[in-house]
Amino acid sequence: MQDSSWIRKMFEEGVELKKKYGMENVYDFSLGNPNLDPPDIFFKNLNNLNKSTKTNIHGYMPNSGFESTRKAVANKISVESSSNLGPDDIIMTVGAAGAINVILHSILNPNEEVIIFKPFFPEYQFYVDNHQGVSRFCEFNENFEPSLIDFESIISEKTKAIILNSPNNPSGITYSAKTIKKIVEITEKYEKKFGIEIYIISDEPYRYLEYENNEQPFITSIFERGVIATSFSKDLSLAGERIGYLAVNPQNKNKKSLISALNFSNRTLGFVNAPAIAQRLVEKSINYLADIETYKLKRDLMYENLKSFGYEIVKPAGGFYLFPKSPIDDIEFCNLLKNEKILVVPGSGFGAPNHFRISYSVRDDVIENSLNGFKKVIQNFKN
Ligand code: PLP
Repeated sequence: MQDSSWIRKMFEEGVELKKKYGMENVYDFSLGNPNLDPPDIFFKNLNNLNKSTKTNIHGYMPNSGFESTRKAVANKISVESSSNLGPDDIIMTVGAAGAINVILHSILNPNEEVIIFKPFFPEYQFYVDNHQGVSRFCEFNENFEPSLIDFESIISEKTKAIILNSPNNPSGITYSAKTIKKIVEITEKYEKKFGIEIYIISDEPYRYLEYENNEQPFITSIFERGVIATSFSKDLSLAGERIGYLAVNPQNKNKKSLISALNFSNRTLGFVNAPAIAQRLVEKSINYLADIETYKLKRDLMYENLKSFGYEIVKPAGGFYLFPKSPIDDIEFCNLLKNEKILVVPGSGFGAPNHFRISYSVRDDVIENSLNGFKKVIQNFKN
């Protein structure tokens, strides 16, 4: 609990520091909140919303969401993954967080295990707890991809799900297609060995925030029990609107009962359905993105500078995070940065002590004005 609450803790300390020293003198890289506006098309559609003449568009609907919205999502995934999803393979959800909870609630029995690859989004542990599962953590190698040796050692008769997150929060790394296919291969091997069925949940809110054009396989195309959990929080900058979706593999032979369980969970966890207005808006903006080139420039500005100061960093390909190595205990190092009024989050919170997370989704002047502080702190540790 202590480890996982670091993001909040740093954010709250930031609020205090800002009161004391003034907003402009504190460099807050603690929260993964998109700082870009949604694309213009979103505002245009927002302005046109109330011109609709249809009745009951703000009422209850099927738990899976508007059919036209699900159709738009299914078409998009089908085109991009050369597969054939239909609206019945999609459920609109209250963000990716809602989607993951709906999936876990639908598939987990008490004490079944969920494998989480370190470093990981800290909320996963609580989502697994919510549905009486047990989290098992898999180690990572030097480029922040999962250690497949460790993965094989923790997969067991009790494994019910695996959560994949690429591009990854906190490392910003995009797992290679080869690694993802290997994870699938190993999962299939152990399903056979133990005579069990495992789900691979691909949590991918950063799929379209990818700056290197890496191949990103769709889990619904390469694994029978692959389920996508995602949202428009980051790529359309709509985190506060709580809109996302889940998608299942149309080839899953138990698709009917799975979808029915997922819809039941969406309803009975209290979501009922994803917000109606948000569904209508994302349907119309589905092929647009916030100005992600801006994130790429921020990444380069931050990465190049920190590298030149002597920070050890694996260059991230996506998301809006950098995850440098800490030369000493990560909590102590974050405190040294805090003395320079720089707020970052210790890696301990993500299952990776001796690192720290920088969320560079901030204004350029915040990055530029923080650079002296970053330089000063690392200088004492250069050999
Ligand atoms: N998964 C990851 C890896 C995230 O970083 C986040 C949010 O930061 C979420 C899920 C939750 O996203 P949403 O706002 O769509 O619920």
